[in-house]
Amino acid sequence: MALSFYVFHLFYKFKVLVLVTLCLMVLWATVNYYVDSRQEIPKAKSMVEDFRKVTSLERSQKQEKMESVAVPTVKSLQDECPALSPYLIGASKLTFKASLTLEEVQKENPQVAKGRYHPPECSAQHHVAIIIPHRNREKHLLYLLEHLHPFLQRQQLDYGIYVIHQAGSTKFNRAKLLNVGYLEALKEANWDCFIFHDVDLVPENDFNIYTCGPGPKHFVVGRNNTGYRLRYKGYFGGVTALTRDQFAKVNGFSNNYWGWGGEDDDLRIRVHLQKMGVMRPPAEVARYTMIFHKRDHGNEENEERMKLLSQVSKTWKTDGLNSCSYKLLSVERNPLYINITVDFSAQPKVS
Ligand code: BGC
Repeated sequence: MALSFYVFHLFYKFKVLVLVTLCLMVLWATVNYYVDSRQEIPKAKSMVEDFRKVTSLERSQKQEKMESVAVPTVKSLQDECPALSPYLIGASKLTFKASLTLEEVQKENPQVAKGRYHPPECSAQHHVAIIIPHRNREKHLLYLLEHLHPFLQRQQLDYGIYVIHQAGSTKFNRAKLLNVGYLEALKEANWDCFIFHDVDLVPENDFNIYTCGPGPKHFVVGRNNTGYRLRYKGYFGGVTALTRDQFAKVNGFSNNYWGWGGEDDDLRIRVHLQKMGVMRPPAEVARYTMIFHKRDHGNEENEERMKLLSQVSKTWKTDGLNSCSYKLLSVERNPLYINITVDFSAQPKVS
């Protein structure tokens, strides 16, 4: 009896002990939970803070980006045009229709306005001013415009065509007209490349790309009337391209070549004096058709040219863009070209 009482008592004590232990464990867990969650509150708070900081930073960066694209012109929203235009077609068979009119050429080029064009599909990489010296060659000008506009558009250039017309009866001065073209075109837009282009030379292949290079460029490697061969090693006439800076560096063309010949050779000497090399496109693409004509009255051969050429190293600094004086008679913005008329009448008259 005493033994069974003793066993019962022991069992009772054990039950109480288990109960107390259980209670203590529950109490410990509760206290722990409470303490942990008190520590977690600041941690969670700082995490929320950090998240807020990141999202607001992202938002302000996004906003900055949006603002930076929203401010500039429509052009910069477009993708840049590719390095090589997908519209090039290569060699074209050129035709010159006797009855062609300016209205027909206008109709063919609806996207040209006031002599200027930029590709509507992309932002052009090159901003090119084409400068054409002119007097009494309306038909040649028409043929050149007919072929040049689509040619330049296929090359995806942002371009303007400037025809510099010499008024009056003074001898023709191609080089001075080209200086005028450069100076006047820069009053209108910040062109980065200038193509000095004879009115009677029509490019045959649109892979002959009308852009400037790291050095001055000469495009007329071959023409139909010379069997598509370079006229002579240093030939730098017909069509040349210089950047705004390259042309400024050589002080432009000389203003002193009246009548035919020499001014292009003079420019080549200036280029060499500045230690710039002349670049040419491959002969297969740099091909031109020359529209036949007789020597114009007022553009007789310049007998002085050899003498002038022997002095270039002494004269180039003071004879050029910085001394180009002229009387500006008019600037007309025709649909297909900007017509700039100048007078050089303080100069020698045609004999
Ligand atoms: C003249 C150049 C001309 C070249 C080709 C040279 O004798 O000096 O001005 O471009 O011949 O006709």
